[in-house]
Amino acid sequence: MASRRVALLALDGLDHALFTRLRAGGALPRLDALLRGGRVARLRSVHPCVSNVCWASVLTGEPPARHGLFGFVHRAAGAWRLAIPTARDIRVPTLLHRLSTAGRRVCAIGVPGTYPPSSSLNGPVVGDFLAPDLARAVSDPGLVPLLRECGFRLDADVRIAARDPRAFLADARAVVEGESRLVHRLLDREPYDAVIVHVMVLDRAGHALWGALEDRDPALAPGILDLYGTVDRIAGELAERLLSVPGTALVLASDHGFARARASAGVNAWLVREGYLIRDPGATVRDPFRGLKPALTRAYALTPGRVYLNREGREPGGIVRAGPECERLLGKIADGLLAWRGPDGGAVVRAVHRGTDLFRDGAALADAPDLVAEPAEGYDLRGDGEDGALLGPPGVSGRHEAARALAASPEPELVPAGDGAEDLVALGQRLLGLAGL
Ligand SMILES: [Zn+2]
Repeated sequence: MASRRVALLALDGLDHALFTRLRAGGALPRLDALLRGGRVARLRSVHPCVSNVCWASVLTGEPPARHGLFGFVHRAAGAWRLAIPTARDIRVPTLLHRLSTAGRRVCAIGVPGTYPPSSSLNGPVVGDFLAPDLARAVSDPGLVPLLRECGFRLDADVRIAARDPRAFLADARAVVEGESRLVHRLLDREPYDAVIVHVMVLDRAGHALWGALEDRDPALAPGILDLYGTVDRIAGELAERLLSVPGTALVLASDHGFARARASAGVNAWLVREGYLIRDPGATVRDPFRGLKPALTRAYALTPGRVYLNREGREPGGIVRAGPECERLLGKIADGLLAWRGPDGGAVVRAVHRGTDLFRDGAALADAPDLVAEPAEGYDLRGDGEDGALLGPPGVSGRHEAARALAASPEPELVPAGDGAEDLVALGQRLLGLAGL
């Protein structure tokens, strides 16, 4: 297959509907000019809709049950303990690995699911915000001085967002400027066969400030729009530079959109109330398994809406047998979640997907959730909310919306023609195909 140089601008959490509105209103002039004559398509994300799961699906062109990431936390194999999955847990080679094996050059910055980057990658790779420091984020320690010189940081300071949103927005702009300097310096060295630049700050701003943007809060909305403007300028400049190399296939993509979170809903608290999960009080976001009684528990949840049965032969001391017992239980839990109502009588959960429908085959199938619940309008689903409550104040202002990811390109044929016709896995397959893999 003919291969092209592939460039992916990965704008985490850029909502398709917001992008369309801002572009039409003239707030994204660089990207608007870039995409005139091109195409923007709404994409479906993947379930569970979590950024590392999403980007692993794009970089491998495979669904979660094959690549093996299901969220930012997993249950450790053979234990009632949380584990943080990393690039090492991805079970199939990514675009970056496959190009490297073929002797082609790669450059990737900040993509969730790429920490720690393997030293076998053939080109500069800087992993994601899970890296504890710059030295451990890089595929080659020789990159660290350049990262420092560019003022590159792995993430914006999200802790200040609630206390001082303006300072957070200024910090987010500084982070994306530093990243831009780094990418341009790396491109000064050579063009690479694949360049993937991931921008995290729109996702961070979405979680922190989605409500202010939606309500057009006069105190905050202009600053949020400034951040979008900064990303527009930086992405536009970068796209122009990347396209100056003939034959480059350039795609802009986001992994999910955003929706308002007015309340957080603790799925484990619901499972406790319904008698499926038996644990001592005092479990927390950091340790949902504290005091869990394996001999009495039939189901437990991990953020965002992943429900796992306590299966015999999978969980330590698991009690739910495969077969009809398991099917009955899944049906009851799914029906119960769909019947869960908030104080206004509205649904908390809008859909419950069966693991068997989402995850058909793959080496990681045994680790896949048995159900994935999607939040209804206004809710943010958690395994455990901040205060362990069934329904409580939202920890965030915006939550991921799986129906509104996007793909765009100045070359219309590089992205799907129909809105919502394809998902992130299909986008990954398109990119692999463009790279001749
Ligand atoms: Zn996010």
